[in-house]
Amino acid sequence: MDITHAKGLMTALRNMGVDQYIGAQTQGPTLDGLKAVAMACTRCGLARTRKTVVFGEGNPRADIVFVGEAPGEEEDNQGRPFVGRAGKLLDQLIDRIGIKRSDVFICNVLKCRPPGNRDPEAPEIASCKDYLLTQLDIIRPRVICTLGRHAYNTLLEVDAPITRIRGKMTTFRGIPLLPTYHPSYLLRSQTRIPEAWEDMETLKNFVK
Ligand code: URA
Repeated sequence: MDITHAKGLMTALRNMGVDQYIGAQTQGPTLDGLKAVAMACTRCGLARTRKTVVFGEGNPRADIVFVGEAPGEEEDNQGRPFVGRAGKLLDQLIDRIGIKRSDVFICNVLKCRPPGNRDPEAPEIASCKDYLLTQLDIIRPRVICTLGRHAYNTLLEVDAPITRIRGKMTTFRGIPLLPTYHPSYLLRSQTRIPEAWEDMETLKNFVK
């Protein structure tokens, strides 16, 4: 991690109320350290309704980070991202890249389930965003793949419809970013699946 990112990360952690970040002085911040902070988070109202925090999972040195929207019921039960029906489709998309799920890192904009799977609300996104930014700062993947409009719009701070941005490569803090459809949307609109396959072909170029 370069010094600019290290500084940004420490600021984000201070904003989360973490004055002493274990390990930061010696080895640099780690995903495990950040997870420990996130698991006890009470920054928004979702802390009262969640069963567990779904921090994200995968390879801390991943070339690709997938960013979804928020945990659903099954994810909230298991504490793992994308383990329900949408997760099965995400697994198939990852398979098309020719890599394993354990090779990538998978997380969400929100780390806690919104009741009834409603859309994330702006104050929830604002409370949770530092965790996502810090995850990306620690991992520094070769490419970020956003799943659906919420992840893209949160990172890029815009309000774009997914059909306009999907498949159009951009960058986030110098990291290539590819927006694709959310797997839940693909389950409802299966004629769009070939476009998502195209996006997985694009992602192949970023795998070592
Ligand atoms: N949908 C998401 O956006 N994330 C999950 O983890 C599961 C379903």
